[in-house]
Amino acid sequence: MPSPIAHGSVCLLTRGLGKSRAFAGLDAGQWRVVKWGMLFSLVLPDVDFALRAMWPGVAAFEHGMVMHSFAVAAVYGLFFAGLLRMVWRLPLLLMWCVGTGCYTVHIVMDMLTRGRGVMAFWPVFEGRIASPMPLFYGANHSRPWAIGLHMITLVTELMFAGAMWWIGGYFGKKKVEHALSG
Ligand SMILES: [Zn+2]
Repeated sequence: MPSPIAHGSVCLLTRGLGKSRAFAGLDAGQWRVVKWGMLFSLVLPDVDFALRAMWPGVAAFEHGMVMHSFAVAAVYGLFFAGLLRMVWRLPLLLMWCVGTGCYTVHIVMDMLTRGRGVMAFWPVFEGRIASPMPLFYGANHSRPWAIGLHMITLVTELMFAGAMWWIGGYFGKKKVEHALSG
């Protein structure tokens, strides 16, 4: 799986998203909550690292298993949307899309990473799925002292983060131009 740098950097797309029509009705405070919620949802599936440490015997908490499934993403979205609705009066369906969407992006990114893949279709299908053409080099959690490998991860993921930043800004600008001309 990529490190939290790549996962979290998908948030940078919000530079453009904030100007889209779906989010136009939110005030500054609500928008800030949505952005932090996105970041949280983008890195949350890797909580299985902590779960495994707390309950070492439970097979379902192995990294890349149950917590990395689309079914869990959909259920998580309900809790996410419910909480944001109750506390910050944010629209339920839109927040379900945000929570489930960001969680799903994490799973897809892990599938696009070198390695064993993840159990994306649990509980329907229990095999791990990985793309034959990986996009990410991935973090080497099991080899903390392999500095050279971590440098590859760091450099490639900072490049990815830069791309996210640029794309977010590009769409943001496009929206502004659109608004000015239209
Ligand atoms: Zn992951």
